Amino acid sequence: MLHNDAITAAYLHIPFCRRRCYYCDFPISVVGDRKTGHNSGMIQEYVDKLCGEIRGTTQRSTQPCQTQPYQTQPFPTQLQTIFFGGGTPSLLTPQQLDRLLTTLNQTFGIAPGAEISIEIDPGTFDRAQLQGYRSAGITRVSLGSQAFQPELLQVCGRTHQVEDIYHSAELIHEVGITNYSLDLISGLPSQTVQQWQASLEAAIDLRPTHISTYDLTLEPGTVFGKRYQPGDRPLPTDETTADMYRLASRTLQAAGYEHYEISNYAQPGYACRHNLTYWENRSFYGFGMGATSYVNGQRFARPRTREAYYQWLENPEIPSELLASEIDHTSDRLVETLMVGLRLAKGVAIENLRQQFGNSAIEQVWQCLKRYQAPGWVEAWDATGKRLPPDVSWEEIDRMSLSEPEGFLFSNVVLVSLFEAFGT
Ligand code: SF4
Repeated sequence: MLHNDAITAAYLHIPFCRRRCYYCDFPISVVGDRKTGHNSGMIQEYVDKLCGEIRGTTQRSTQPCQTQPYQTQPFPTQLQTIFFGGGTPSLLTPQQLDRLLTTLNQTFGIAPGAEISIEIDPGTFDRAQLQGYRSAGITRVSLGSQAFQPELLQVCGRTHQVEDIYHSAELIHEVGITNYSLDLISGLPSQTVQQWQASLEAAIDLRPTHISTYDLTLEPGTVFGKRYQPGDRPLPTDETTADMYRLASRTLQAAGYEHYEISNYAQPGYACRHNLTYWENRSFYGFGMGATSYVNGQRFARPRTREAYYQWLENPEIPSELLASEIDHTSDRLVETLMVGLRLAKGVAIENLRQQFGNSAIEQVWQCLKRYQAPGWVEAWDATGKRLPPDVSWEEIDRMSLSEPEGFLFSNVVLVSLFEAFGT
């Protein structure tokens, strides 16, 4: 990533949910089952503040930058991707969504053909609302399905039913949104491999363009985090969750989905363009409570409660304690670039790394990674796309990647050895 790369991506956090799912530690406010943007003063107030934050970017700077916080610069590029994440962004009314998009357009410009995604939860929208989103400019939706078994939806505290997933998919087709993604979670308490297989097949039958599969993580402070320790029954064992990962890889690829990122599969041409910004370590704007931006080589995480976020908006300088990370050290930037880049099936291009970090750093990276060639977790490729044998020198490599699925499955082991090698 070059620090002065043109910023073409914006993430907007919509931090409201009807209830909190048992595995979730995202920064959200719970609004109750009946509330939507129509009748929640809390959501309306938030949209006002969010528009203010977006507009404020022009008046101050393209980036929050600690050393020159209020430097006015023109915006050289329009937005190519916008992502409304949450939370449950489908609690927004079409009018609220339209206001946010209009504000982004007036501030930065939105490029023709931009990918504009929104996360929607089954049971939180109807046809008119989805049609309204489409008219406002949404081109892609991501449906938080999670599982196709009522008992598993209940076990993780989701508000929706299995029928809501099918109804949502129908609505998506009816309003003519052709680019849509489904999310599924593996490793849930009591989940069996057979149930996982059934969820994968049910998802495939709906023919989304994209499917994300996540392995459950026990986050401290969540209901699950308090209820279970890793390895506790009824959580599936590590061997079972690894089998679930391999099963997803086989089943989804057999159905025509490319495994393009550790947790993501897409029909050809339908990889999520917005999320590629993160994995390719390019700059992006972030707006809203808890949202992170990455500008001028600085990651900045906004406050994670509404009160603190609103307070920060009154005087949006960036106190140093709020800087999530300041990537000053070359080795930190190198490891970060590898950490996100190796999530992609295409891996990382050696020439890009060499230009940014120099020959000796790349040699050190390869010293560290080549030991994982023998077990088949790391792969090296030449410029013609031919896989190279173990023990090649780094100068012969065009690209290196983790193998699919075993390298992806053991990516943590590989990354830990990189952290150790570079002392990060
Ligand atoms: S809907 Fe998503 S953001 Fe909201 S509580 Fe559940 S997992 Fe968290």
